[in-house]
Amino acid sequence: MSEVPASLIEHNPKILSGPVLTNSPNAFLSKTLLSRYQDLPIPNGNYIATYVWIDGTGEHLRCKDRTLTYLPTEPKHFPVWNFDGSSTGQADRKNADTNLVPRAIYRDPFRRGNHMLVLCDTYKYNMEPTDTNHRVKCQEAYDRCKDEEPWFGLEQEYILLDSDLRPFGWPPGGCPPPQGPYYCGVGANKVFARDLVQAHYLCCLYAGVPITGTNAEAMPSQWEFQVGPSVGVTAADDVWIARFILHRLAEEYGVIVSFDPKPVKDWNGSGAHMNFSTKSMRAEDGIVEIEKAIDKLSKVHMKHIKVYDPRGGKDNERRLTGLHETASINDFSAGVANRSCSIRIPRTVASQRRGYLEDRRPASNCDPYAVVDALLRTCVLNE
Ligand code: ADP
Ligand code: MN
Ligand code: MN
Ligand code: MN
Repeated sequence: MSEVPASLIEHNPKILSGPVLTNSPNAFLSKTLLSRYQDLPIPNGNYIATYVWIDGTGEHLRCKDRTLTYLPTEPKHFPVWNFDGSSTGQADRKNADTNLVPRAIYRDPFRRGNHMLVLCDTYKYNMEPTDTNHRVKCQEAYDRCKDEEPWFGLEQEYILLDSDLRPFGWPPGGCPPPQGPYYCGVGANKVFARDLVQAHYLCCLYAGVPITGTNAEAMPSQWEFQVGPSVGVTAADDVWIARFILHRLAEEYGVIVSFDPKPVKDWNGSGAHMNFSTKSMRAEDGIVEIEKAIDKLSKVHMKHIKVYDPRGGKDNERRLTGLHETASINDFSAGVANRSCSIRIPRTVASQRRGYLEDRRPASNCDPYAVVDALLRTCVLNE
């Protein structure tokens, strides 16, 4: 096994207990098994639903499948289901049954046909939301500011790891030449796994995720996709299912997706810039509303930092250093076209005097429900 970057070991001690994948002889076997059976005719009236949920880390996803004998068209027509919450960090072993409530449905790009992906949120035995269910609060905030039609567009950065847990395509035991040529790069020495990225793009469109684009990022094997703008809670649903599709596709490709915000020291980290607007910001002279929102955000910087990664700011401490296109975690700043600020006003927004702001602080592993919730409560609900 080749050398793993030090910061990766430091922050992922558990997954690095040994070379888990490459030693398996199965890794070298033919992977055509599924394709031989994929076309089997399924008896009419049987539909497979993959229930997807966020586990007790608030960061990782789980899924399981079930057959339905009718074709639901809305989340509320799907059965509430349950799972063993003691195996996902969401319940005690002695009282483990945890509930899955369907919230959003997407077409399944893996099975196709009428099969579906069903994004759920999770509830304890007594139907209280679990600790990592931030969707409930987000929905409640959104319901109180629907009139403002809040839009959210998220830029999701990530990196791909090879099965030895080093960044995919990096030379054995070392680093590629310094960053510069890789962002939006073209050529086999600049970008790795474009086919996976393209497949993800198509799968998202097929599934019904409003993916708006994709680009290679500053570190080789680092990529980004953008989702939205979507209205309110839906924006966060879309991001979570897009993450699921990416993890699931990467299984087939034999690589691992990492949303760690700073996998390799001295290289750009991964963020999840949240672009946000309200009806008043999008209206004529909306720049005034944008500036008001920035002023409100400036007063509660640390409150936002605490919910912009799953470890209360600890993950972002590694990323928001003030270097590598970030602002320091300790300071709030805003500026036009400035990518070293907490909040950026895009140049086009400044010149048209209307549009949206970009909050550059959320880490790539943030929970978009928590980010949407915080922005709505600070900027619209004045909490
Ligand atoms: P960047 O220049 O920061 O890399 P991108 O092009 O990657 O910008 O992403 C821009 C994001 O802004 C997209 O996710 C898009 O959906 C979102 N967006 C565009 N207009 C609005 C708006 N009015 N409100 C909220 N989000 C918006
Ligand atoms: Mn971008
Ligand atoms: Mn980016
Ligand atoms: Mn951005």
